[in-house]
Formats: sequence, C-alpha cells, structure tokens
Amino acid sequence: MSSRIERSVCPYDCPDTCGLLVEVENDKVISVKGDPEHPVTRGSLCHKMNHYEKTIHSPRRLIEPLERCGPKGSGKFRPISWDKAISTITERWQQIISEFGAEAILPYSYAGTMGIVQRNAGHPFFHRMGASLLERGICTPAKGAGWDAVMGKTPAPAPDEVVHSDLVILWSSNAAATNIHFLQLVKEAKKRGSQVWMIDLYRNQTAGLADRTLLVNPGTDTALALGLMHILVRDNLCDQDFIDQHVQGFAELCENILPAYPPQIVSEITGLSSNEIEDLAQAYGTATAPFISIGGGVSRYANGAMSVRSIVTLPALVGAWDKPGAGCFVGTSTSAAFDMSQIERFDLLQGSPRTINMSCLGGALTQLNDPPIKSLYIYHSNPAAVAPDQTQVLAGLTRDDLFSVVHERFMTDSALYADIVLPAVSSVETSDIYRAYGSYTVQRSRKLIPNVGQSKSNIEVFSLLAKGMDYTEACFDQNAEERIDQLCAVQNSWWKDIDKSALTAGKAVKLSPPRPKMFVTPSAKIEILNPTQNEPLPIHIPPTDNRFPLQLVTAPAHKTLNSTFFERADLRENQMKILINPQEAQRRNLNDGALVNAFNDLGAVDFYLQIDERVPAGLAVAEGVWWIEFAPGEKTVNSLTSQQLTDQGGGSTFYDNRIELRASNLRSKSVFDSLR
Ligand code: SF4
Repeated sequence: MSSRIERSVCPYDCPDTCGLLVEVENDKVISVKGDPEHPVTRGSLCHKMNHYEKTIHSPRRLIEPLERCGPKGSGKFRPISWDKAISTITERWQQIISEFGAEAILPYSYAGTMGIVQRNAGHPFFHRMGASLLERGICTPAKGAGWDAVMGKTPAPAPDEVVHSDLVILWSSNAAATNIHFLQLVKEAKKRGSQVWMIDLYRNQTAGLADRTLLVNPGTDTALALGLMHILVRDNLCDQDFIDQHVQGFAELCENILPAYPPQIVSEITGLSSNEIEDLAQAYGTATAPFISIGGGVSRYANGAMSVRSIVTLPALVGAWDKPGAGCFVGTSTSAAFDMSQIERFDLLQGSPRTINMSCLGGALTQLNDPPIKSLYIYHSNPAAVAPDQTQVLAGLTRDDLFSVVHERFMTDSALYADIVLPAVSSVETSDIYRAYGSYTVQRSRKLIPNVGQSKSNIEVFSLLAKGMDYTEACFDQNAEERIDQLCAVQNSWWKDIDKSALTAGKAVKLSPPRPKMFVTPSAKIEILNPTQNEPLPIHIPPTDNRFPLQLVTAPAHKTLNSTFFERADLRENQMKILINPQEAQRRNLNDGALVNAFNDLGAVDFYLQIDERVPAGLAVAEGVWWIEFAPGEKTVNSLTSQQLTDQGGGSTFYDNRIELRASNLRSKSVFDSLR
C-alpha cells in the first residue's frame, strides 16, 4: 500500500504549536515533518518532534489496561479488560463518595497534550461528580498576573512584530530550547541589523545568538528593571508625550521608587557591573523599536509576578507601544476567542467543592483531612516527576488507602504508583483543535491512524466512566469531532477573517485579536501605579532564603520537554546532570563526571556533575525533569523544590530553591543493580 501525507499538529506544551505533515502507511505513521505552509513552523520542527513516529509506535507504549499486583511503585501489574477497569474504578468511586463525599476524589491534569477538547474532557465529568477542583497553575500564571497588573486585558502584540525591531531583549527566555520558531524571527531581525541582548542566569544555548549576555543574580530582575528606569529618567530617555497621554503613575514611580535604584545599588543586587546596566539602559532608551520577550523562568520565583510586572513597565517609559516592531511579549492569550463554557461545563458543578493548587499536591495527599484525598485520577500529567516536593508527593502516592488511576501512554513515575493504569492514545489517534500561546494560530487535527493496542482518548474514557457512574448528560455522548464543531461554530470578532474551509481542511489559520484603541485597563492607561495591587508601585522584594549556598535552577532541556520524551533513548541525554561553576566544584573538591548528592531540607538527589564555565558561581543548573528510572539514584530534581507559591497567580516557584552539593555515596545505578 502506498503512503499518504496528512496534516496534523504538534500536541505538546510549547508556544510554537507547529503544523506537522504526517506520512501514514498501513495504519502506521512512518515519518513526520514540519509543514512548510504553517506560518510559524515554516517547514522545520525541533529535535523532539522530527521523529514523532518513534513515540507513537514506541515499544514502550501501554497497550492494555493494567491492575496493580505488587506494592505501590514496584511496577508489578497484570492486564485486565476495559470493562473490568471501568467497573473497578466506578465502584470504588461510588464507595468513596458514599463514605467521604465526592471532594475526596481529585482529578490531576495539566498540559501533557494541548488540544482543547481532549485536554479539558475531564472537566464536565469531575464537575458533575462534585470532586475537588484543581487549580492548574504549575507553569507560569505569575507571568499573566504580572502582565495584567500593568496592561490589564490589553492583547499582546503578535510575536512576528519582532522582525521590525532594532533591539531585541530576550529576558529569561532560553528560546533555543523552548521557542525555536520565535528565535528564527529574532535571527531575521538580526539580519536586518537588530542588536540582540540576553538577560538570564547562565549562558544557555540561546547565548550563541546574543550580541550581549547579562547574567543576573536569581530573583533580582525587578531591581534590574527599576535600575534601567532610573537611568532612562536620569538621562531624559523617556517618551514624555506618550507618558502624559497613556501612562498612570509615572510621577509616583519617579518620586517614590526610582531614587532607591541607582546603578551602583542595582549592581550590588543583580551582580551586573554598573557599566553593563548603563549600557543596557542606553541601548534601550535610544532604540527606535525596542522589543522585550519575557520567558517563563523569571516568573518562577516567590516574587515572580512582581518581576514580570516591573519588566512590563519598561516599554511604557519609552513609548514602545506606539512604535511598529517595539513592545513586550509574554505570550498570546486566545481564550476569549472560544466559548470554553461549552467544554468546561462549570454549569454541571455540584455544590462548591474546595480547590487544591496542583503545586501543593504533596501536602494535599499527606496532610489534608475533612475529607482526605482518597482517590486521584491522573491524566495529561506526571506529578510524581513534575510536581514540587517529590518526597512528599511519593509519600502520598504510596498511601495504601489512596486509590489512584493513571491514564497514560507510558509507564511514567506516576503510573508506577497507580492501582489502575489506562492506556492513552497519542495525538494522531484522535481529533482535536489547538490554539497556540506563542502566536495567534489555530489548527484542527483529525484522527489519522487506529488507536494503538487498546488505548483510548480522554473523551472515550470519560464517556465510559460517565456511563459507569450513571451520568446521563448529553455531553458525555459527544465525540471529539462534535465538540470541535461546536467550538468552531462561534461567531466573534476573533474569527472575522478566518477561512473556515481552510480550518476544516486541517490548515493553520490566524485568529484576529481585537486591537483596541486604548489600553484595556480600568483607567484606559498603562498602570504603572495600580491601586488594586498590594504594592501599588513596582518594588524589588529580595529573596529571603539563604540557608543553602547554591541557587538551584530547574532549567529546560534541549531535547525533552518537562518529563515528556524520556521514553525516547535518542532524546535523553546519557546522564542526569547538575551543572556548576569550576570555582564551586573546587571549593567542594568535586570532580567533573563524579556522582554528587544535591540536598536541602526537602530531600536529596544524586546527579552526575558537569563542571561548566557557562554557569556563574552561586548557581546550580539541572536541565530537564527526568524519570526516576533513568536517574542515578531514587529521586529526581523535584525532590529539591518546594510547594511555595508565587506572590500572585498561584504559580510554582521552581527557580526559588537553594541547595548544597557533596560527594555521593551512591555507585551508578547500573553497577548497583548488578550487585543486588
Ligand atoms: S518547536 Fe514546539 S511545537 Fe514545534 S515541534 Fe517542537 S515541541 Fe512541537
């Protein structure tokens, strides 16, 4: 049989949301390429997706439902039928509900795949049940909170504006690992003569593109932003006409805040030299079209929302919003384009169940009473690896009285602790619709191959669970295509220029975000002064935890995405590493390549040491969220991260943890295993 090429969409948690050309032969995917007609992808994919067929047809795929037959975490399971799996789950849930109430059941899901209808398929079911609600904020809600504090609901500019910029600042954005198609636009800007500056914690892969790289002390970005504003005001580099017309609180900022941030003070706080700060301020203040792209890292501190808020304030001072190619980009928010109520079905909600923040899962599983969590249903996520405070999460997952179900494609760390494992489909085995968060594209994807083994999609599983629970609402009988059609039937201004036939044919189309004449804030101005905030003006709130000497940065890896893609030997690095500066290694008498033990008061994790001059003193960098199976010891990086939340938005604080390093007592796992 000859092969055919079909369009599809990269389903993963990445701002690019690439268009794929998928080659299918004999009901199998045999190759995957970037769609040259996709406006963002333009024919190229990242390492992760170039051989997506290896993930789809991996020998590691789970292909039948499993029931635990050994201790939790042992990985001992036996196959069962779907009928048995569904009846076991629903009978156990009925029991729990009658004894403890539905709040004793907690769904746990995030952005394992990003298609709107599959990702949200559990919401109607758990709302109908009255289960505890999950606050899904593990990623960067503090970034949104920081933007909203200054810009309100003003839509972000389109990221392709950057090609017209003459100064691009990549602030805490390792775009080479997390946003490669935006980086291509930055390269275009550079070809046209733009200067590129990078502000980050260590010299990651993106530094290769930057003309200047500034390495700041962790959590001091607000001080840097305020220091830059100090110089802009001191040197008359502000756009006073723009400020007079469009900015609220400039006078108060100048009077009450900026005097405390002269270059020498900011230098002490940030670790940059006064010259570096002066140079950046001059470059920013004299650029014709300065463009700042803010990445996620800066929002993952306890002061994350304030950090983003202060950076978002900068463009207001130079009138960047009036200039083509200038501005500030934190991501696109297109939720207003869709009627999400049709998908999320909050109207089905029973009572007023409590809400549990997903970054606090460890505490919820081990400390909550009234009622305790008695059952966890995990889908689109792998909390045993990705949630902070892994020691507590695993303690919770090991509880004998916790009934946990995991719907997954692979035997992840979380699946190992499940009572029932349900096999999940990959994105090409089902239909969905995707909206990007790094551009305004929307694209529909169709089911291209039969489900692998007995795997099922979220919609299929929740339909079976609804029947098992005797929920009779019509939404539980709706298939994926019907839900997508319902979403696409919307008529609002975002859709006015959309070619619906192209969308139906599976091509990427661009939404039209509203372009309001004014800023969408209560004052219709950019609100440097925002009276609704605890701190009405931006102010640097220094990090307070100095109990351990090294700041841990849980940075993105180049070829994996959070804990996704670790099933692929070709994408995993050989070893789970921690990177430190030669000085720090020497101080501790540690050698390159040695097994080291990173620890703090939350836990201890073994890594292989990489001595790396790209990392400044005082920092330790761990790239990627490894599966325990591939770690040298029994824990991975989130044993060192805390459940603390950001100042606003309920976000995680993955960058705000401190550790110490020592030589490890562990021999490498393979040697260790052979001795057992
Ligand atoms: S760049 Fe992002 S969206 Fe594109 S293929 Fe890679 S992971 Fe997917």
